[in-house]
Amino acid sequence: MKITKEQFQKEFKNRLNEKYAMGVEDASANELYNTLGSMMRAAYSSKWHHTWKNYLANQQKQVYYFSIEFLPGKLLESNLLNMDWLEVVEESLEDMGIDLKELINVEPDMGLGNGGLGRLASCFMDSIASCGLPGNGNGIRYQYGLFKQKFIDGYQVELPDDWLNNGNVWEVRKDSKAVNVHFFGDVHLEEVEYGKLKPVYKNQQMLRAVPYDTGMIGYKNEMVNTVRLWSVEIPASEEVHYRSIEERRALEDLTAVLYPDDSNEKGRLTRLAQEYFFVSAGIQSIVRYFKTLNVSIHNIHEYVAIHINDTHPALCIPEFMRILLDEEDLTWEEAWAITLKVMSYTNHTIMAEAMEKWSVDMIKRLLPRIYQIIEEIDRRFVEDMSLKVYDGKVVENTKIIKHGEVHMAHLAIIGSHSINGVAKLHSELLKTTVLPDFYSIYPNRFNNKTNGIAQRRWLQLSNRSLSEVLDKTIGTTWRHDPLDLRLLLNYQDDEKVLEEIYQSKRKNKKRLADFIEDHSGIVVSPDAIFDVQIKRLHAYKRQLLNLMHIIKCYQDIKENPESKPHPRVFIFGAKAAPSYTYAKTIIKCINETAQLINNDPDVKDLIKIVFLENYNVSLAELIIPAADVSEQISLATKEASGTSNMKLMLNGAVTLATLDGANIEIRDAVGDENICTFGITKDEVYDYYQNQSYSAVSYYENDPVIRRVIEAFIDGTIPNIYHEGTEIFDSLIRYNDEFFVLRDFKSYVEAQEKIEECYKDQNHWRKMSLRNIAHAGAFTSDETVKNYADEIWHIDTLPNYGDEKGLE
Ligand SMILES: *Cc1c(COP(=O)(O)O)cnc(C)c1O
Repeated sequence: MKITKEQFQKEFKNRLNEKYAMGVEDASANELYNTLGSMMRAAYSSKWHHTWKNYLANQQKQVYYFSIEFLPGKLLESNLLNMDWLEVVEESLEDMGIDLKELINVEPDMGLGNGGLGRLASCFMDSIASCGLPGNGNGIRYQYGLFKQKFIDGYQVELPDDWLNNGNVWEVRKDSKAVNVHFFGDVHLEEVEYGKLKPVYKNQQMLRAVPYDTGMIGYKNEMVNTVRLWSVEIPASEEVHYRSIEERRALEDLTAVLYPDDSNEKGRLTRLAQEYFFVSAGIQSIVRYFKTLNVSIHNIHEYVAIHINDTHPALCIPEFMRILLDEEDLTWEEAWAITLKVMSYTNHTIMAEAMEKWSVDMIKRLLPRIYQIIEEIDRRFVEDMSLKVYDGKVVENTKIIKHGEVHMAHLAIIGSHSINGVAKLHSELLKTTVLPDFYSIYPNRFNNKTNGIAQRRWLQLSNRSLSEVLDKTIGTTWRHDPLDLRLLLNYQDDEKVLEEIYQSKRKNKKRLADFIEDHSGIVVSPDAIFDVQIKRLHAYKRQLLNLMHIIKCYQDIKENPESKPHPRVFIFGAKAAPSYTYAKTIIKCINETAQLINNDPDVKDLIKIVFLENYNVSLAELIIPAADVSEQISLATKEASGTSNMKLMLNGAVTLATLDGANIEIRDAVGDENICTFGITKDEVYDYYQNQSYSAVSYYENDPVIRRVIEAFIDGTIPNIYHEGTEIFDSLIRYNDEFFVLRDFKSYVEAQEKIEECYKDQNHWRKMSLRNIAHAGAFTSDETVKNYADEIWHIDTLPNYGDEKGLE
């Protein structure tokens, strides 16, 4: 999509005038942003149209990626990059006296997800389009995104994220593609003709699902795929039924919030209704599109792949069955065979409490026909297993419905031809420990697809200074083929290149230091080690371990005022789920420790703690290029993959990691000497479980360092955490430290000492950093989605893909 400066400026001024009757000098940043956005959309719309027309003409098999979360962040800059407009627009705007950065600033950060899961979906959308693959997203257009986080007196306070307030230039409402979704009511099967049963419904509630499409622009390849997000409306024909405003509101609230409070029945019902809503709407729209291909429904699996991202969209399976059975009149056997070929599922967690289950009563009431189908899937599964002489225990462990609950992971596994974990360790654990019974039944369904990240967003755009060094040093091919980052290894002894990479890091650190000062008033030196832990606040991620090490450093300085550790800035970014008290307690404790340490003159600025508010994609883009140390310190087995570990290594941070998730693969890629690992292994973790032999209190009693750190929480050392300090103390000592923080503490401290030693040897550190960048190409989502495409979805690029690349 080429444009010249002259064309751009002329068109931009015209459009601004048309939209707002204004000249450039009168317009606000918001008006300029909207003008630019709408102009870009107009420019890629023909490619968008062309892309799906081509898919249609070629009857191209497409994948539909169902995810209850998408976390794209801002789209302006990445759309400009992918359209190949970035430089022209930057310069043209500058000529007109407009700073592109100011327009980027007014774009809301689209946060329709909590963390890693949603961000993965968005990286995949970028990579699928950029690799020229036919794939689309399907999700929910939440009216409010993930809450905005503020700290008041050190406590997390949640504010609504009204991201649609000023409209959304990237979306296109498609009224003509709206579909109806049904809830509640009674259903029974009636014999319509001999031997043929059809469901008859009474008292159903009907809601309208309206799609809003966003173009996913491929990187300089003239392709534009679609992410379709559904919004609820009350159908005009149903208006009469809903008398009160309250009732209307309740229905319209279906797609209002990202994660309805699930501590009560009403919130849980809303969440379940959300799941069915976007699943049903998505599947109906897929089938409707499929019909325009004029291919027999019996062959739909040759044209459609549906991916279930975590269990939230697992109702895809019974919903697809419903359509094949009730609307297309297929037999159960055939419908099931087709469904299996269409569906694939990614598991994202092995934590028991995160395994999704719904009460039978709730599903029955909200989705009576879907429940019948789930019941029948389960009945046939159990019957089949019994025939195949699996013992009763295997069947009991794997069936979908038990103890009055529907197990969504079991439904997803039984109804999919592929089940993948998201890192090698995690995929192994699924087979051996979490789902061994399923693995014994379906050994061929299990596979691994290690997560990845989009290098365009996480390096090209967010770290322009490093990108320039790379271009100068190894050429620009890495921008299309990230594995070419390996060429950097040829320069690991080149002082000039090492110095240039260092200077780019320093520039990014300076930029972050300025931001920190502006936003928190804390002054930090860019010559300090920037030690970064950014991720959701969760006990298993062990921000507490990090905090305990900081307290130890503080106590060391207080005790020995002559000690001279290398100055360090500990940077945190993390939101806690609003109802997760313990996570909020950790936030409070980190903030109060920051108050203490940052203001103690004895510390002489040797350590600083900076907890930045409202961690989101945009903040990640600012922090990651400035990081020296990447904290990936979850208890082994708990972090399925992690992706911030990949983003940080790609930006030259050295990883300080447990042997968990993708950390292991990062170690294998960079080699032991370029990463700092510590902590117990998965086998040791399972041994502790097996023997029930872990005793946290013994560490407290026998290790004076640990004792002194833990006592800081309750003896007044850290001020203003009377209740919170006790809660932490109790979690470690009374409740035996669920995530083995005390077990790994010593080993973590040693690893931190090693980090400091390595950093002090700057020449050595710079080489480590370079090698991390060089090996990061394997962890890009371009590589990941190509594997999904070949091995799970069986989709391919258009036959003429590439012919048009770079052409108008
Ligand atoms: C990458 C990313 C995450 C995931 O981080 P993990 O450390 O892998 O849990 C979460 N939130 C945001 C905003 C991200 O960009």
